[in-house]
Amino acid sequence: MISISSQEMFVEDMVNYILSRMAGDHDQDEFVDGKPSRKFLIGTLAARKDTSTDLMKIKDNDTKASIRIHRLKASVLVKKTALQLNPEIKIKATGYVYYKVKKNSGSDQISKVSESGSISDEQDDIKSQWKRLAFDHNRNFTPSSNNTIEEHVDFSNIMTIANHDPLIRKKTADDVWNAKISVQTSDFDEHHILVSFNYENCGIEPLKDSDFERTIFNCKLSVDLGNLEVEEFCDEYLYEGHKQRYYYDFRTINCQAEWIDNKKQFMTGHWGKFLQENIRPRSSISGLNLLFSDLMSPDDFIPSLDKLVVEMKKYLEYYRNNVPASVSRDEFQPRTGNREKTWNERIEHIRQFECLILRIESGINLVKSRSRVKDVFLKTNETFNNYYISRGVSYAGWRVFQLVFFLASIESIVEEKDLDVVDVLHVDTGGGKSEAYFALVSFTAFYERVTGKKDGVSAIVKFPLRMLSIQQLERISGIIIHAEKVRGRSPTFPGFPFTLGYYVGNRDEEFPALYQEVRKRLYHKDGKLITPPPISLVLSKCPLCPPEEKGDIRLHDDPDHKRILHKCDRCKSEFYIYTSDREIFRWRPTVIVSTVDKWAALSQQRRIRSLLGGCGSLCPDGHGFIPSGDRCEEKTDEAFQCDNVRADERSSAGPRLSIQDEMHLLRECFGTISSHFEGLVEALVEDTSSGRKLKHIAMSATLNGSKDQIKELYHKDSFVIPEQCPEGVGSPNDFFFEKLDGPKRIVYGLKPNVRDNHYAALRTLLHFAEFIIGAQRDLNSNSSDFCSRYLIEEPIDAQCLIN
Ligand SMILES: [Zn+2]
Ligand SMILES: [Zn+2]
Repeated sequence: MISISSQEMFVEDMVNYILSRMAGDHDQDEFVDGKPSRKFLIGTLAARKDTSTDLMKIKDNDTKASIRIHRLKASVLVKKTALQLNPEIKIKATGYVYYKVKKNSGSDQISKVSESGSISDEQDDIKSQWKRLAFDHNRNFTPSSNNTIEEHVDFSNIMTIANHDPLIRKKTADDVWNAKISVQTSDFDEHHILVSFNYENCGIEPLKDSDFERTIFNCKLSVDLGNLEVEEFCDEYLYEGHKQRYYYDFRTINCQAEWIDNKKQFMTGHWGKFLQENIRPRSSISGLNLLFSDLMSPDDFIPSLDKLVVEMKKYLEYYRNNVPASVSRDEFQPRTGNREKTWNERIEHIRQFECLILRIESGINLVKSRSRVKDVFLKTNETFNNYYISRGVSYAGWRVFQLVFFLASIESIVEEKDLDVVDVLHVDTGGGKSEAYFALVSFTAFYERVTGKKDGVSAIVKFPLRMLSIQQLERISGIIIHAEKVRGRSPTFPGFPFTLGYYVGNRDEEFPALYQEVRKRLYHKDGKLITPPPISLVLSKCPLCPPEEKGDIRLHDDPDHKRILHKCDRCKSEFYIYTSDREIFRWRPTVIVSTVDKWAALSQQRRIRSLLGGCGSLCPDGHGFIPSGDRCEEKTDEAFQCDNVRADERSSAGPRLSIQDEMHLLRECFGTISSHFEGLVEALVEDTSSGRKLKHIAMSATLNGSKDQIKELYHKDSFVIPEQCPEGVGSPNDFFFEKLDGPKRIVYGLKPNVRDNHYAALRTLLHFAEFIIGAQRDLNSNSSDFCSRYLIEEPIDAQCLIN
């Protein structure tokens, strides 16, 4: 076992290594080959280029972000009266310069030639390297209102040191290193003054200069404010229509700033660090039972569901009681951390929680009062129970939000209610949101069979292209296969088996257009079957086999029905999973997993309409569904042709459920185009399903702006499940989420000052790789030393840490 603290120490070492290498602050960076300004990207201030345009820009205040940065700046806010005390502010500017020296004779140091420059430059580069020198400059300022005091950094000391270096290639001239620090004051508002601290490279870079490095590195200001008292900045903005305020101490450009000591001293830095709170979905609430095994039992499910509502009402009471009676809605609640929210926002969240309870009660009433809905609910729970048992998890159950989401959506499926409202499922990645909608997908599939729909599509799941992972495909196939197993055993759900289609990709090998393309992977060139048959790419292990002895899923041709079957080579179960477009059109799978872009083909491929319900009937030769007026198969490059034409007969209605995963990515032009096809799909489904609309579910990682986005994508309203706890996410009274110890993620933000983000990201990865390789080398050469450094007992655990 590797303890959390070992992991933290390792990660801290890694971050420190990367940050110091990016800034040029590491021991290894004392001598470097090639110009340092190509390597060190954070905390770096460049000289201005000697071109008329760049020089003209000196006049502007460097307020805009640009790749080549000359200046960093940190500002604080003070009361006007504070300056009258004549505060004495101490500023220390630090950094590194590099100068060119002859390489020590050791030929092993000669590495590759530099990327640019003439041949003589290259030869020169081979024989030279750059040496680092640290400098600092101290100065006390007493600012007054609306003025700027500045001072040039004194480089004379380090110039002397450099010029006395016997290895220096060319003596450093006076104008090579040129920087200044300044303090600027300006009115902020009626009562406040903005005090800004600047650090600027004033050097001019000639068009071609390989002898000197005018860029200065690892530039930091440390500021002791003396008796100057700072105030907080406050930004007021709208979040999802609610007024909020955010308080902070520094406004910075091209740097970050952090207090060192009690709001008296601060220091600028090159990166920001963010600790994401460890907020996780609750899997239990005391006294509440959410086990699948209980919720699939006709005797036990009612008390569990009733208890859920009782608990939710109890929480609703807490929320209501914690709002003072006399409070005005526009007033702000007491500040928590750096933020303030209005009472109105809290009251709205309480109202939303109340609406959610009403929807859940309606769902539960349907489950209790209608035997068919009850059957469907029990079978959905049985499906999940079996699915988890087959994965080796016994006594599995719902997380609170999953069951709540599932119950809250039942009325929309059964009563076709709220179809003009998109339910937005808002849970962080890894929180189990997929299982929440899988529940509804499986419920919908059972419900359609029990109400007489014998075939056709019940649910469509859409992903933005490339956001689809094989792991997710395996999970959803596992659920559908278990649902089919449960369906097949019960006489209550007559009709075709539950099937699955992967309507994704761009006609590549895994998900081609034709049945023929999948089929030819099963045969040798001479027409003989390949043995053993190839393993499925979308589902490699059997979901039905017991956890310890799972069979492989292999592809088999079904020439009678012109389709490919998935079969387990151990338990011999057969699964209907279609991966080519033509098989999907003919077999209209119960659940279609698709990418958004595939639906744009509606305008080019008329057979897609089969997936949305409508007229036609089955081919008498057993090839699946033929839309009215079409031939069964007429494509000459398909594996077969069939001339059967179907008449205009009424067939199964269109899908009931449409799920959009990662909806927050459907923005801008992608969202605009997608909205056209959403509208078309909706209109076609209404037409084929007696005027019934689709129920849309959207997954979103961010809520801000989602209401407008949904309006534009679907022309529908939205309802968020679960909505934020009125008392704050992860607060002790949060019904859905709990706050665990430690951060969930640690995020570092680096701002490259001389090169673009892409290059900076590559260099960051390079240093990451160096660190990992170095750690592996340390472990290999002296494992006990490595283990004691990170408080690890066994070398094998140390290897896990690196992996
Ligand atoms: Zn099996
Ligand atoms: Zn046919």
